[in-house]
This record gives sequence, structure tokens and C-alpha cells, in this order.
Amino acid sequence: MLSSLSRRAQRVSSPGHARIAELATSMKLDGADVIDLSAGRPAESTPHYICEAAAAALISGGTHQTLTQGSPEFRRACAQKLARDNAIIADPDRSIVATLGGKQGLLLALIASLNHGDEVIIEDPCFMSYDPAIRFAGGQPIRVPLLKDNGYHWSEAALESAVTRHTRAIVVSSPHNPTGRVHTEEDMTLLANVAQAHDLLVIVDETYEQLVWNGQHRSLANWPGMQDRTITLMSLNKAFSMGGWRIGFNHGPEPLVKAMINVQQHLVSSSSSFAQAGATVAMSDLPPRELKDLWTDWENRIQFAVGEINTMSCASCEIPDAGFYAWIDIRHSGISSKEMAHRLLQDQHVGLVPGSAFGQQGEGFLRMTCVKSWRDIRAGVKRIRKVLG
Ligand code: PMP
Repeated sequence: MLSSLSRRAQRVSSPGHARIAELATSMKLDGADVIDLSAGRPAESTPHYICEAAAAALISGGTHQTLTQGSPEFRRACAQKLARDNAIIADPDRSIVATLGGKQGLLLALIASLNHGDEVIIEDPCFMSYDPAIRFAGGQPIRVPLLKDNGYHWSEAALESAVTRHTRAIVVSSPHNPTGRVHTEEDMTLLANVAQAHDLLVIVDETYEQLVWNGQHRSLANWPGMQDRTITLMSLNKAFSMGGWRIGFNHGPEPLVKAMINVQQHLVSSSSSFAQAGATVAMSDLPPRELKDLWTDWENRIQFAVGEINTMSCASCEIPDAGFYAWIDIRHSGISSKEMAHRLLQDQHVGLVPGSAFGQQGEGFLRMTCVKSWRDIRAGVKRIRKVLG
């Protein structure tokens, strides 16, 4: 048989949460009552007013491809959102490009900025797609530990020692998946100083920036001297529960935005026209009451789950500053995160992601999505207690 798999494709394995989710789905198909708390997908669908805007666009003929950069209305809404929420003054014509969400936005940013062999610093643990995306774009990921025992702050020594003459960029998520930390002013200042001292690009993934429960998120792009060397990745997936829409945008300096538009032309032509129409409405105004109430309810679910976990003898967990994951410390159990996740799934039919899927430093942790229905969260923690309690 013809072997036409690239070495690049052969090196990539499916992400840890997908493996658990696949196993959970096949168990469900076999009739098991599985509660899947692995993937970061909220129970609720997209708010109605956003769906209506997309439906209206479809019905009124908005079915054609838009400009690759995104429709003028979409880009204006992005700029409005950035000014209102992130104190970033953006030019809708020069500093924004529509993407198919955070993942695609990251790949686009990397293809536009990396040369073959360039090194890219990432956090360990970090979102599972960073490492493969950097490799797809010809780069080499270099992991810097982000340790609970150091309050999840970057260490200047660790960051500095990761920089070599081949380093081109740093990719971080803030707020951070999986730990739920909002990087502090001091952390961001350190990052900005290192980037400027070594002339590096920083790609900041702000997927969870609207779901901050504690502390204050500040976008790196408005740090002094950072606007010209920062690409900000925005996605509507999480806060607006729009995971299936595949819509987001990148903000960055003009030359990089131009390059991203050129690349995007060949990759996808444009983001979906009606997804842009829905996203335009989502970003134009402050979130309405119904959405704010939903976010408050998510926060209550997170607090409930974390409170329950903290009464279990083999687990501890801090309330996340942002996002909707409980990052559960099971280091005292003496069992690997992978084995524990499999035990939970096989014995109790509850799906959590093993921390090792996020990098070596994620070993000893499990990630739980807390924005499933109240029923699933309540039943889920009961099942988790049977193993960790
Ligand atoms: N970045 C982070 C930090 C994420 O957690 C996720 C989704 N889990 C993404 C990006 C992917 O976002 P999207 O669905 O918009 O591609």
C-alpha cells in the first residue's frame, strides 16, 4: 500500500481531551451513562440574539464570501470591542484579520511569522494545540515550566535561559488554560521586558478574557513598547458559547496583519459570512443581561465544583481566576494523571482530562470542565468523590 503520510502528520497525536472524549462517546454508544467533563464546551447553546443576527444575514443574502480580512462591519465591531474591553486602539483596516477561531488564528500567526527552525517559547503546562501548531509552521517549541509551587508566575531565570539566538516568538495564554490563572502585571512586565530585550514577537491567546472572576486581565498589546510586537488572538468560542461557529480574529501590527491576510487567502478565503454577522452583534455592545446571568451561573458552578473537590482526601483545587476549568491537584494520590483519568472513566463513567496532556508539568493534575449542566456537575463530583474522596 502506498505510504503517503508525512513525517509531520505521523508525529501528531490527537489531543488528550479528544482521546478521553472519544472514549466517553464510544462508551455512551454502548449504552453507558457517561458524564463527560473533558472538553471545554459549555452546556448552553449560543444566545438567541446572536443566532438571530446570523439567521437574518443568511436570509437576506449574506451568503457570499467576505473580504479575506473580514467584512468591514465585523472589523469595526472587533475594533469597538478592543477599545471597550482591552484598551487597545485598533485600526479596522490595518490591524485586524478575521479567523476561524483561536486555533486557526494561532496557526495563521505562526505561518506568517516563523522561519523554518525558529524556536518558540511556550508554557508548560499549556493548551494542547500550541506544540503541534508550532511544528506545523516549521518551528520548534521550547517549554518553560509554569509551576503551582511558584504561584504559576514565570521565573525570569527560566525564561531567559530558554532564549537562544534561534528564538523568534513566545506564545502564552492569558487567562491561562489549563491552570485558570490570570497572569499578573508583574508577569506581563517580565514577559514584555524579555520580548523587547531579545527582539521577540509575543502571541497572546486571550480566549478566556471575558470570563475573569478574580483579578484583572490586561492585554499585553497595550503595554508600553508591545503594540508592534504582539499578536492578540481572540475567539468567541467560550464566552458566547460559539464553538461550532469557528469565528475569531487576530489583532497585530500592520506588516504581520498584511502577511496573515495573504496566507489566509490561500487557506480559507474568508471566515464564514454569517458567522461574522453573528459575531458582529456579539461584539458590538456590552453583553446583555441574559448573557451576564449565564456567566454568573457559570461562576457559581465553578465555585460549587471546586468547593466539593476540596472536601476530597486525594484532591485539592484553587478557584480559577478565569475560564471555566477546575485544575485538580492529585499529586498526593501517588497515581499518574493518565491512570486516574482512565480509572474515573472506566469505573465511574466520568470524563476528565489528564494533566499530562498539557505538558510534563501538568502531571499530577486533572482538568475538569465546570460549565456543564448543574445536573452533570452535581452527579459528576459525586462520581469523582468515589475515586478521589
Ligand atoms: N486557546 C485556548 C487557550 C483554548 O482553551 C482553546 C479551546 N479550548 C482555543 C484556543 C481554541 O479556540 P477555538 O475553538 O476558538 O479555535
